[in-house]
Amino acid sequence: MPNPLFDALFGVHEGRDSPFLYLPDGKVLSYADFLGLAAQFAHALTARGLGPGDRLAVQVEKSASCLALYAAAVQAGVVFLPLNTAYTQSELAYFIENSGAALVICDEARRREIAPMTERLGASLDTLNADGGGSLPELAVGMDTFFPTVDRQDSDLAALLYTSGTTGRSKGAMLSHQNLLSNAEILTDAWRFDASDILLHALPIFHTHGLFVATNVVLKAGGAMIFLPKFDLDQVIDWLPRATTMMGVPTFYTRLLSDSRLDHDLVADMRLFTSGSAPLLEETHRAFEARTGHRILERYGMTETNMNTSNPYNGARKPGTVGPPLPGVELRITEPESGADVPQGETGMIEVRGPNVFQGYWQMPEKTAEELRDSGFFITGDLGRIDADGYVSIVGREKDLIISGGYNVYPKEVELVLDELPGILESAVIGVPHPDFGESPVAILVPETGVEPDLAQIESATADSLARYKQPKRYVVVDALPRNTMGKVQKAALRAEYAKLLT
Ligand code: ATP
Ligand code: MG
Repeated sequence: MPNPLFDALFGVHEGRDSPFLYLPDGKVLSYADFLGLAAQFAHALTARGLGPGDRLAVQVEKSASCLALYAAAVQAGVVFLPLNTAYTQSELAYFIENSGAALVICDEARRREIAPMTERLGASLDTLNADGGGSLPELAVGMDTFFPTVDRQDSDLAALLYTSGTTGRSKGAMLSHQNLLSNAEILTDAWRFDASDILLHALPIFHTHGLFVATNVVLKAGGAMIFLPKFDLDQVIDWLPRATTMMGVPTFYTRLLSDSRLDHDLVADMRLFTSGSAPLLEETHRAFEARTGHRILERYGMTETNMNTSNPYNGARKPGTVGPPLPGVELRITEPESGADVPQGETGMIEVRGPNVFQGYWQMPEKTAEELRDSGFFITGDLGRIDADGYVSIVGREKDLIISGGYNVYPKEVELVLDELPGILESAVIGVPHPDFGESPVAILVPETGVEPDLAQIESATADSLARYKQPKRYVVVDALPRNTMGKVQKAALRAEYAKLLT
């Protein structure tokens, strides 16, 4: 009897002795070991009363056991709901309450803090620690290493994954078996993954990038992962020579570039580096190629849709673009108000349709209706354009668009000018309330180490290349931009911080 996601990603590997996870302590977990552990966890979840459709909320450190919980949930028909380990207790309460999770799994160290909340919300509580211990593994240890897989259909939910909360409160994206499986199949093929691949995994597994893009692709291909708890520069450099591929956020690449040990030899056996979750600067792309000979493959996706576009494996990987739509994904650029297609090459709202597009936001029918058209197109909230070769460029988020005196200012356009200036490492341009113009652009600048930026010179340089309404009204120099764990610049936080700068 079928369980689409489990059968294709996990079930096919039953009994296989080949390595699945290389762990930092030198341990190697075979597919058979991993699936045995997953089956025990599936029994434990069932013993706790969880059944098909129930939500399992998991806020624990990254570990092989945590990944096995994902497999267990899929096998038992339970909806997997991973949560950012940085969330505080009150944030956690929102997710538990919103999702109606039946069981919450946290680290032992947080049990006492969390218990009153789960009790109030009527959820059970178990623990799983980074070292594999905890109340759930204690229950699981005596269980059978075979679990009869629960039947599911393509449209049944496999996961409830909350968005990163960059533009507002996180929304629970309902992802079906087909959503996840179709994307894993497409990406495995597009990026040429096979059983000989070893992926260096240093991403968190509470986010779509590390959990679905990286893990599902490796599982689909039957390859292995070097499973590191987080991105630690020394550790990554130590392990890179044993890997064939790495998926990263842009900050992984800037951090690698900051270290002289990154060179051709170190990555001689690598075949692919990919980047996503936040824009990769063209400069980073070029510097990485100059240092290693590898052209980073940038792709674009989101919690609600998995991956939508990708630069090609064979063929031109264009810096500053996220490539053409993936096979099976339709992508169009529309006028945000009317929803009509814009002429080729013009900037507008990115909309996508395909088997990858989610089932809607959990218990948010109005939000779902606003963003998911009857035609099946999802309004992504990202602005972009398509070049003559069909490559998509992301211009930024609609919510970050600045409307100054009635004119649209795309922050990215201004940031690209600023980033090119000598002594400037990176920048973020935000809209700040202005008494005459409604809002006006303000630039937050991060200088290169040890450089004192010459603001007068910067002002005259922007005046030379940008129309007056696009020129920042004020410059603020900071040491670093606020980013979340996925490397996303927190523009909403910057807007709040500088809200009164021009009034
Ligand atoms: P929220 O929806 O809660 O505001 P979020 O959109 O940041 O948060 P995610 O689903 O984690 O949550 O992120 C998806 C977003 O990340 C995309 O909509 C896009 O803005 C951005 N993104 C992903 N890949 C890229 C990329 N290669 N270049 C630029 N932006 C990217
Ligand atoms: Mg989003």
